[in-house]
Amino acid sequence: MTIFTRIAQGEIPSYKCAENDEFYAFLDINPLVKGHTLCIPRREVDYIFDMDDDEIARFQTFAKHVAQAIKAAFPCIKVGQAVLGLEVPHAHIHLVPMQSERDMNFANPKQSFTADEMQAAADAILAEYRRITES
Ligand code: 5GP
Repeated sequence: MTIFTRIAQGEIPSYKCAENDEFYAFLDINPLVKGHTLCIPRREVDYIFDMDDDEIARFQTFAKHVAQAIKAAFPCIKVGQAVLGLEVPHAHIHLVPMQSERDMNFANPKQSFTADEMQAAADAILAEYRRITES
């Protein structure tokens, strides 16, 4: 079982930003900027491009709603999207609120926020996600 499966199942704590039956989103523990979020499928699949066309379309739609929620919670120019997957072998989409192109540089030093700050960031994204998907 991957660490991200254990996170999606609630076995390992995370700062939840969004979820549905098939996908889960949570704050990256070593964020590039505040609000840096990871979207994952609950199902274990390593390489995102091994997903079939329908699944990857649903995954991207989920990530779109999470990105809209991030942008509403954290005013930014755009939310950037990246797929790396070199560290954790469980497909994930990085969503990063950008004030500049530099915010998407994964070689940047990672930021550190208090538990209260992380919780508040996740709560803000989750509230916006619910507003977007329940309206
Ligand atoms: P990648 O596989 O895309 O290269 O990097 C994996 C990302 O997952 C990194 O940005 C890393 O900070 C994040 N990450 C790794 N382990 C955990 C974890 O246990 N919890 C959370 N919230 N993020 C993690």
